[in-house]
Parts: sequence; structure tokens; C-alpha cells
Amino acid sequence: MSEQSTAPEQGAPSAQGAPSEPGAATSGTGIADRYREAMIPVFGTPQRVLVRGEGVHVWDDEGRQYLDLLGGIAVNALGHGHPALVSAITKQAETLAHVSNVFASAPQVELAEKLLRLADAPDGSGVFFANSGAEANEAAFKIARRTGRPRIIALENAFHGRTLGALALTHKEAYRAPFAPLPGGVEWLPAGDVEALRTALAPGDVAAVFAEPIQGEAGVRPLGADYLRALRELTREAGTLLVLDEIQTGIGRTGRWFAHQGVPGVVPDVMTLAKGLGGGFPIGAAIAFGPEVRGLLTAGQHGTTFGGNPLGAATALAVLGTIEEEGLLEHVRATGEALVRGIDALEDPRILGVRGEGLLRGVMLAEPLAPQVLQAALEAGFIINAPEPTTLRLAPPLIITAEELGTFVAALPALLDRAAQLAGAEEGN
Ligand SMILES: *Cc1c(COP(=O)(O)O)cnc(C)c1O
Repeated sequence: MSEQSTAPEQGAPSAQGAPSEPGAATSGTGIADRYREAMIPVFGTPQRVLVRGEGVHVWDDEGRQYLDLLGGIAVNALGHGHPALVSAITKQAETLAHVSNVFASAPQVELAEKLLRLADAPDGSGVFFANSGAEANEAAFKIARRTGRPRIIALENAFHGRTLGALALTHKEAYRAPFAPLPGGVEWLPAGDVEALRTALAPGDVAAVFAEPIQGEAGVRPLGADYLRALRELTREAGTLLVLDEIQTGIGRTGRWFAHQGVPGVVPDVMTLAKGLGGGFPIGAAIAFGPEVRGLLTAGQHGTTFGGNPLGAATALAVLGTIEEEGLLEHVRATGEALVRGIDALEDPRILGVRGEGLLRGVMLAEPLAPQVLQAALEAGFIINAPEPTTLRLAPPLIITAEELGTFVAALPALLDRAAQLAGAEEGN
């Protein structure tokens, strides 16, 4: 097969030419067209083709620069090309990249110890390493099954991933329905409803409750301290595991190592991590708190080829080390608050407020224009995200400065103007 013959040359001008209609992916390299040809189209049309990143900026294949306020969806904790990350990856790749789990390696053990320390996990706790968030939740799901109890509770609007077990926990019907039958026993409760939780747990047959301290994909919706406390107290009374999915909220994203640490007394039985943990390198983790929970999985009951390999573990250690050395937890709290103050100070009636914590924020819009604001932002050189029509999500690299965030805040009123224009043009079509 001569793939090359139909593919435009690297660097050839875009077939559509620039500037194009707003929202369409343009591409100076022809990669966007080849993407359409070569990929299974589960992600829809990519917004841009990116070629390079440095710090909090990325560049597309037409040479345009963007301030990255999404960080690969809460992944690029240290931004792009951070020297500590590059050096850790390079050194570890030169030394030992992968050994399989037939062997142990120092980075893997050091990372496990470090995560247990940062999570204030009690003696006898343990870590399982995976390669993604969904896989971390699969491990948690299997731990839950091992309790022998039949029911599992998740929350309405929850997102826990796309593999079949993680999908079974995910609330959105449209994601689940095409893949029935999924692992059974899962039911959903409205987040925040303590009485519903009490009733559901009362029979004593619930293996686990899965919850995200802040529901990221649902539009950055915090569960709130009171509900988190109720979750902890009621699951403890019922002998039910509390599984906190901190895949999006963990690793400093909220200005604490893990979001639940903002609510004293709330310690999970299992915590899942991924996204920011590798700063762009794929790695996930499920942490079992205490010997009893850890003992639910025994030799041979779970596994992975790549999970916890020295390359991924060394990279994650560099992420955690850099967050410590650069004082990023405090920085995230301060910049997150500055962002909220800045948006509040706009006193723009088209903005209802800001949800979230640290540098995981949802800007609530009065009108369902988030997709159009996203397009306007791209035109203006900002990468943001629209998890739902009335919410803009910001999850920038943790190293972003208040000044850099300020450029977005200053641009926001004009982006809302432009979004209304784009919506009007769509209606006119
Ligand atoms: C992203 C995410 C997942 C899934 O992680 P993948 O790495 O995409 O499998 C699960 N839970 C939450 C809360 C997430 O934000």
C-alpha cells in the first residue's frame, strides 16, 4: 500500500487555505485530512493540529501560538517540555525503560512509597500502578468486587472512564448504552442527597461508593465538604468502601496533593489517580488504604504489562518532586484565587460565577454558549474546554502565572461578544 502517494507533503499549504470558517480544523501540514482518513472517528474533528509546546504555550501547524488553559485535560501539570520531566524521561530511558512486573525496579517502589506518604495512607496500605485513569478505576472496581457484596454505588453525572468496568460506573447513558451488557450491580444516586445515600447503604450489601470530589467532566461540580463527610461517615458505618476518583482532582490540581485533603477527616479506602501523575506520560494508580483493603486483591488476581514500569515511575517522581521543589501547591491556590477574583471583577452579566478549586475551574455562563466561546478562544489564541453548554473548563498547567491567567480574563468579554456572533451566524445558516 502506498500511503505516501495520497498524503499531502509535510509543510504543504492547507487545502482549505487560511483563514477558514470558524470552528473548522485547519492544518498547514495536511495532518487534519490524514487524521480523518486514518483514525477511528471516536473523538470527532480535532480542533487544531499541534506541533510544539513550551511552558504554558503550544503552537499549531500554521504557526499560531496558544496559551494552554486546558493542559491536555488536567494532565500537563508541569506544562510542556519542563526540563525536570525531559531529564527524568531521558535518564530513565537510557538506564532502564521497562522490565515487566516479573521484576521490581527502584523508581516503582520509590513512587509507591512517595504516593503513600503524600496521601497520608496508614501503615499496611499499598499501590497498584496502571497506565490510565480508566485502568486505575478497573483496579478499584475489582477491589470492590472482592468484598463479596453485590451492589456498587456511583453518583449521577459521574465520569470514571471508558473501559467496560469504568464505563459501567459512568453515569451518561449515551456512553454506556451502545456497550450493554456492562458489569452489573451499579446504581447511581444524586450527588449531595445524604438521605438517598443513607437509604441505599442501609441494607449493608453495598461493596463500594465511587465519587469524584469535584466532578470534572460534568462541568467542574464540587461535591462539597458536607456531602464528602457524609459519604465517609455513612460508608464507614455500612462497612462499604469509599473509592475517591481523584484522577482529575489529584496531584496538586486543587492546590492540595489530593482534593479530599481539603476536608479534614475524609480519608478514602481506595483512591485512583492518573492524568497529572505523569505530567503527560501515561500512568495511573489505585491506592488501597490500610491492610484490610490492600488484602482484597491477592497474587494473580490482577495485573498489567506496562503499569509501574521504571520509565513511567521515574517520570511521575519528577512531577511530584517538581511540585514540591517549586512550591506549586501554594502557587495553585494563589493563582486559582486570583483567577476567580479577576473573573468576578469583570462584573459581566453573561458570567454567573466560577466553580471549583485551585486550577480546576468551571466558568458558569448565563447562556449555553460554551462551544462558541471555545471557538472564539481558539481564534484569539487560548485553549479552553466546554464540558457542557453552559460551562467553560480551565485546567491549565500548575506552573501558569496569575499574569498569564489575567490575559485570558481580560480577553473574556470580547470572547463572549464573538461567541454570540458565532451563535448568530450558526442560526442564520
Ligand atoms: C479522565 C478521567 C478518567 C479516565 O481517565 P483515562 O486516563 O482517560 O482513562 C476517570 N475519572 C475521572 C474523574 C477523569 O477525569
